[in-house]
Amino acid sequence: MKSIGVVGGGVIGLTTAEAILEDYPGLQITVYSDKYSPHTTGDVAAGLIRPSFYGGSYDACTVKRWVNATVEHVVKFARENSEASEAICLLSGYKLWKTAPKEPESFQNCYFGWRDVEKSEINTFSTEGRYSDGAFLTTWLCDCSVYLPLVMKKLAAKGVHFVQKKIQSLDEVAEFGHDIVVNTTGFNAKYLAGDNEVQPLKGQILIVKAPWVKHFYREGDGDSYIYPKSDYLVVGGTHDRDKTLTIDQNKSKKMWEDACKMLPALRNGKVIGERVGIRPGRPSIRMEIEQRKTNNGKDYTVLHHYGHGGYGVSVHWGCAKEASSKLKSHLPVYSKL
Ligand SMILES: Cc1cc2nc3c(=O)[nH]c(=O)nc-3n(C[C@H](O)[C@H](O)[C@H](O)COP(=O)(O)OP(=O)(O)OC[C@H]3O[C@@H](n4cnc5c(N)ncnc54)[C@H](O)[C@@H]3O)c2cc1C
Repeated sequence: MKSIGVVGGGVIGLTTAEAILEDYPGLQITVYSDKYSPHTTGDVAAGLIRPSFYGGSYDACTVKRWVNATVEHVVKFARENSEASEAICLLSGYKLWKTAPKEPESFQNCYFGWRDVEKSEINTFSTEGRYSDGAFLTTWLCDCSVYLPLVMKKLAAKGVHFVQKKIQSLDEVAEFGHDIVVNTTGFNAKYLAGDNEVQPLKGQILIVKAPWVKHFYREGDGDSYIYPKSDYLVVGGTHDRDKTLTIDQNKSKKMWEDACKMLPALRNGKVIGERVGIRPGRPSIRMEIEQRKTNNGKDYTVLHHYGHGGYGVSVHWGCAKEASSKLKSHLPVYSKL
C-alpha cells in the first residue's frame, strides 16, 4: 500500500488529504506542517465564498465548478457536524462600486438572490455619493478557525496522522518513507518547489467588536470590506507584495477610516485585534504531478497543489478533488476502478 505525505496543514493541505482519502480509501496519510489552525492563512481570512477569474487564468465554467463543489461540500459537512454550524453559515450583504460594476454576469448566479441596488439604497447606510453602484446578495461563509480543527478531527478519526514539523525539502518527506508527497505549502511553495511564479499577497485585517453590524459590505473596486463572523467583524483590507508578518499601524489606521466611510455606523465599534496573513499569489493555481528522485536515489511522485491567492477558501474542495484525481494513474490499485 502506497504511503502519502502531505506537506501543509492549511485549508488546501487538509482538504486535499480529505479528498485523497475519499477517492482512494485505505491509504496511509501523514500531514506535516509547521503551523496548524489557528495559525494558517485561512484563519486570517474572512472566508466568504466567492468566485474570481484569478487574473484571467480560468474561464467562468471552471471557477463555478470549483465554487459549487466547495459550497456543496461545506454545506454537507455542516449538516453532518453540529459543531460546524458556527463555521459554515449564510451571510447577506452589499458589494459596492465607486465606478461601473465589474462583476461578470456569469458569476452572479453563484450567489443567492443577486439584486442590483439603487444609489438611494446605498445612501441609507454609506457615506452619501461614495458609491455609484451596488448589489445585494447572499453567499456562504466558511470560518476556517472553526472549520479546520473539525476537518482535522474527521481525518484523525479516519487514521490520518498529524506531525508538527518544519520541512526543509520535499526529498526529506520522501525519505521518511512516503511514495507520494503532496505539496500544499501555500506561499512557501515558492521555496520548497523553487517556484518563482509564487508571490506574496500580504493581507492585514482588524478584528472589531460591533455586534450591531449584521451584514457584510465589500468594495468591488477597492480594498475595503467588513465581514461579520460569529462574535466579531473582520475589517480589511490590504493586498501588498510583502512577505513579512509585521503589522503596519498606518495601514490599520487607513483601513479603519475607509471602512468607517463605507459604513459610518461602524465608527463606535471597538478594534480588539489586528492580524496578517500571506495569500499564496500565483497567476494560476498549480495542480501538477512531478516525478522526482532524492539524493539517495529514491524515486517518488510529487503532487503540487498551491497558489490559490485570495480565494483558497472559496474553491478549496473543488480544487482538492481535481488535484486528487491527478493521482489516479500513480495509484495502480485504484486506476482500474
Ligand atoms: C486577509 C485575508 C483575507 C482572505 N479572505 C478570503 C476570503 O474571504 N475568501 C477566500 O476564499 N479566501 C480568502 N483569503 C485567501 C485564503 O485564506 C487563502 O487562499 C488560503 O488560506 C490558502 O490556503 P493554503 O492552505 O494554500 O495556505 P496556508 O494556509 O498558508 O497553508 C500553508 C501550510 O503549509 C505549511 N507550511 C509551509 N511551509 C512549510 C514547511 N516548510 N514545512 C512544514 N509546513 C509548511 C504552513 O504551516 C501552513 O500550514 C484571504 C486571505 C487573507 C490573508
